[in-house]
Amino acid sequence: LAAQYAAERDEPAITRDGTRIALFMNAGLLVDLPNVDRMGAEGIGLFRTEFQFMVSPALPKVEEQTKIYNAALDAAGDRPVVFRTLDIGGDKSVPFLPRDNEENPAMGWRAIRIALDRPALLRYQLRALLYAAAGRSLHVMFPMIAEVAELRRCKKILQKEVDRLARYGRTAPKEIKIGCMLEVPALSWQLPALFKEIDFLSVGTNDLMQFFFACDRSNPRLADRYDLLAPSVLAFLRSIILAGAKAGVPVTLCGEMGGRPLEAMALIALGLTRLSVSPAAIGPVKRMVRSVDLAQLQRFLNANITSADHSIRDSLLHFARDHHI
Ligand code: PEP
Ligand code: MG
Repeated sequence: LAAQYAAERDEPAITRDGTRIALFMNAGLLVDLPNVDRMGAEGIGLFRTEFQFMVSPALPKVEEQTKIYNAALDAAGDRPVVFRTLDIGGDKSVPFLPRDNEENPAMGWRAIRIALDRPALLRYQLRALLYAAAGRSLHVMFPMIAEVAELRRCKKILQKEVDRLARYGRTAPKEIKIGCMLEVPALSWQLPALFKEIDFLSVGTNDLMQFFFACDRSNPRLADRYDLLAPSVLAFLRSIILAGAKAGVPVTLCGEMGGRPLEAMALIALGLTRLSVSPAAIGPVKRMVRSVDLAQLQRFLNANITSADHSIRDSLLHFARDHHI
């Protein structure tokens, strides 16, 4: 099977009725980078910058950070790399930032909350990203944003670093695209205002869904409690995708659910056309996309999204089997 996926590496991810789906790859460490070419990804849709910080005994210096970001941009060539600023705290601890014993670390002092309280950390990281992307495209996005006001504060900090480049005579990136992760449900009630501030949105369903269902993503007892193919989830995600389309802002989904072919099938039926998945998922998801008739699938989904059942998983599976997907 792996050989078959490899043979389809350079084939486009396009449905039988002609809708193009962009498949990006998630990455975090240098060892991940050769997979961009190996798997035929259209770019890196999520570069989890905190991984480098987690394996480092001391706070990585600007030069060290710059090297890593440079390597990621080099590996992707003309394709975009979306750098997510530090998402530490929660389930991701770093040795050099002592933390309190929090009762709910996933909802605690993490990600952008740390960055806004310790802006030097964010400024050094943004500086490294700007250096690495000199003369090239820089895509940067901010994690765990709960309200538009937080995103605005991040943009101000970024602007300070951009201004600093000129003062030091450094080459700026060719363009800077600013993105935001949607991981906190509250933000989904500010989408029209948010879309005015950003160039792209990335839906982080790993976190978003744990808050949506109030269900710890790392508790094995709860792993099968709720299903991401629940009608409530699909209706919620559809409203986000439609809001993006209305505002003309690209929406990508970068949580693990996008890498599972059945879930990805539901997502493209909702109108999503951009997924960022783990390298190993690109082949299977592309295979699914290429065997789907999207119009037919959308008719099926529209008829099922208002169901009061726990999940549409079984009926979707039947649909897939009946249509040789
Ligand atoms: C997410 O929350 O869906 C996400 C992509 O971020 P992480 O898994 O790194 O928290
Ligand atoms: Mg997350």
